[in-house]
This record gives sequence, C-alpha cells and structure tokens, in this order.
Amino acid sequence: MKVIELEGIRKVYEARKGNQTNALQGVDLTIEEGDFVAVMGPSGSGKSTLLHIIGLLDKKYSGEYRLNDKSVINLSENKRADLRNEEIGFVFQRFNLLKRTTVINNILLPTVYRKTKDDLKRALRLIEKVGLNDKAEHRSNELSGGEVQRVAIARALIKDPTILLADEPTGNIDSKTACIIMDLIKKINEEGTTVILITHEENVAKYAKRIIRILDGKIIKDETP
Ligand code: ADP
Ligand code: MG
Repeated sequence: MKVIELEGIRKVYEARKGNQTNALQGVDLTIEEGDFVAVMGPSGSGKSTLLHIIGLLDKKYSGEYRLNDKSVINLSENKRADLRNEEIGFVFQRFNLLKRTTVINNILLPTVYRKTKDDLKRALRLIEKVGLNDKAEHRSNELSGGEVQRVAIARALIKDPTILLADEPTGNIDSKTACIIMDLIKKINEEGTTVILITHEENVAKYAKRIIRILDGKIIKDETP
C-alpha cells in the first residue's frame, strides 16, 4: 500500500529582503508501507524541507500530498496535528530533549496532553528496546550523544507511529555508535514501521532499501540497491 504520495511539491522560502529560495522544485515521490528510504544530497539541497513537509510540520508549499490515500492539503491546523500525532514520529537533526528532564519523562513528552494508562508501560518497553534500562531516571544532560539519540528515537515511537522520520540521526555521533542507532532503526523498520531518514553518510544509507538523491530541490536519482 502507498503511504506517501507527493506530486509536484514546490517550496519557496521568502526571506526578509525579498530574496527567495526555491527549496523544492517539483518533487514527485511515492513511498510504500514498510519501506526504508534514505534521502541523500549536499547541504542546502532541500532534504530537511522535504522531511518537514512529509512530517506535516510545514503547510506552506504547493503540490499534492496524500498520506494513506487522503489529501492533507486542505486540513485544518487541528486535523493536521491529530494526523501527525497518530501517524508520525520525528527524530530531529539537533537533539531536542529537555535537558533537565529524566529519560523516561522525555520519552513520555508527546503523551502529556492525552495520557493513557498504557503510556508508562510502553515507555518502559521502549527504554528497554533502545537499551537504556539503567538510565530511565537520569537527566538527559547526563547522557552521551548516542544515548540522547536513542532517547529521541524512543520518544518518536511512544505514540506507535506508522512512519518514522529521522533527520541525520547519526550526524553528531561516532561511527560505532552510529551502527547501534542504525541497527535499532533497521529493527524498527523490520517490525513494520515505514522509515525515511536523511543522511550524509553512505554507510548509513546502506541500511536502507531505497536511496533517493536530491540536488537543488529535485530528486535526481532513486535507486533500490
Ligand atoms: P538540507 O536539509 O538539504 O541541508 P534545507 O531543506 O534545510 O536543506 O534547505 C534548503 C534550502 O532552503 C537552503 O538553501 C536553505 O538555506 C533554505 N532554507 C531552509 N530553511 C529556510 C528558512 N527557514 N528560511 C529561509 N530559507 C531556508
Ligand atoms: Mg537539513
């Protein structure tokens, strides 16, 4: 089944002095359920912009976007937020955990508005899954970069999303730790979650089933190695 269908996506950033940046210039992309896609391309090529659009974090673009066969273009702010909550987990490029908050509470952050009694159980299961059992009550500023990123992944999974998006999840960590992160993401994909991640590193992209290359806001290559 197709989970994501983008047709002719264009994104223009308007800068204050009237300068425009054509960040995406007509992107067509279909992603099937259960796929594992790596998005590659030089800095400034539009990767993060694309991921933000897919993640329903941006609505100022033109083109068509269907998520699970339904257009998201005209959704209200609330509907968009609900859909994002239900379907999407996001691991951001810059670690954005609350530094003074414990690991367990960082993972539970997306549930604070609508907590269910299973959330804590699920958080504990996720802590185990990312291998941080012994760190549950540590504050996140006491963790290494790799550990922080594992917490970010657990947090992205707390609402059981169907799609996991990650913007350079191994960008700021050493290559050995990167392998641990990528093994984890691979496992999450094998359990059925559709994964789309941005990376600069060919070693990281190798984990994916499909590699898309972007240049100047356009997809220039789409391969299944
Ligand atoms: P990548 O993630 O591939 O490095 P981005 O998607 O972040 O690229 O950016 C694509 C282009 O859009 C770049 O030229 C960047 O400078 C520009 N851009 C990104 N975000 C903004 C913004 N908030 N305002 C203005 N220009 C932006
Ligand atoms: Mg980026």
